[in-house]
Amino acid sequence: MSHDHPYGKPVEVLKFTDTKQVVVDKAELEKMFDHQEVKNRKVVVFSIIGAFRRGKSFFLDYCLRFLYSHYPSINNPNNPLDNQQDWMGNGEEPLSGFTWRSGTKRDTTGIIMWSDVFLHTLELTGEKIAIIVMDTQGLFDNETSPAENSRIFALGTLISSIQVLNLSSIIQEDQLQYLQFATEFARFAAADSQGQAEKPFQNLLFLIRDWSNPDEFEFGTEGGDHYLKDVLKVKSDQKPELRSVRQFISSSFENINCCLLPYPGKTVARVKTYDGRWSKMDEEFKEELQKVIEHLLLPNNVILKKINSKDLKGSEMKEYIDSYFQLFQS
Ligand code: GDP
Ligand code: MG
Repeated sequence: MSHDHPYGKPVEVLKFTDTKQVVVDKAELEKMFDHQEVKNRKVVVFSIIGAFRRGKSFFLDYCLRFLYSHYPSINNPNNPLDNQQDWMGNGEEPLSGFTWRSGTKRDTTGIIMWSDVFLHTLELTGEKIAIIVMDTQGLFDNETSPAENSRIFALGTLISSIQVLNLSSIIQEDQLQYLQFATEFARFAAADSQGQAEKPFQNLLFLIRDWSNPDEFEFGTEGGDHYLKDVLKVKSDQKPELRSVRQFISSSFENINCCLLPYPGKTVARVKTYDGRWSKMDEEFKEELQKVIEHLLLPNNVILKKINSKDLKGSEMKEYIDSYFQLFQS
């Protein structure tokens, strides 16, 4: 289901065609990153990745609701809401933004950016920043080849400063192995442009949906971090390959965190005609959803995109994206 949004639209900046070719929308990328208001600002690239039909776009659309109420944007330069506490707004308002729907047929594989860019001046330093939101399609699904999957994951990791890895119910061993494989790919690509940095990538957040063990690890980011610590623990009696996966992942990202979200309720999970309004969410889910979005996107919490420990400006970011995309077109 998709509802028109007054200020922006999803743009497919990179897609794989049916014949497995990579198509890049340079004009759209330029419009965003070389925009007057963006090209000289430091950028935050907020990205989500994971299997299809697991609530990624749904989550991002609530992120957009938060962003529009806290920040002006290119297309909505006016002041945001007076009462930002109430950013979730009206409980009967249908969700709009990135398309999302129930069912099993997936959308195109690729990288999608929100055409509107959020603007902010950091209070502490006076730095001007721009926030870009990115959705991905096609990871871990049955129709995408492993090679395509890892290319998309690698691109997401290379471009973003905050990468949300959206998973259902638990972190599985094969997902960690997959993460290692895809991250190796990304490190290989990054080495071209930035040499072998100690920890080449920035923030990785495991977002676990439908968490069902709150008695063991409670919902939210604290419980999540405890759970993640347990999962990533290197144990002496572990098989060597399991140990190396853990070491590799920990050595690739500056920060790795986790958040456990409850089941959203039957309407959200199952009703085909559900339009995303929060009045139909389980209360517990709504509260945790709000908390994690604030945790990620409040002005003091966003992470600026760095390459080689240097903050990147919009126009420089576009150059990097161009070169990464080229790398993956061959
Ligand atoms: P995407 O393919 O990962 O982007 O998934 P969508 O955002 O399109 O959502 C797919 C379906 O999952 C929709 O019907 C949503 O209402 C539903 N959904 C959203 N969040 C959750 C969640 O946390 N748990 C469950 N079980 N379903 C969810
Ligand atoms: Mg989606």
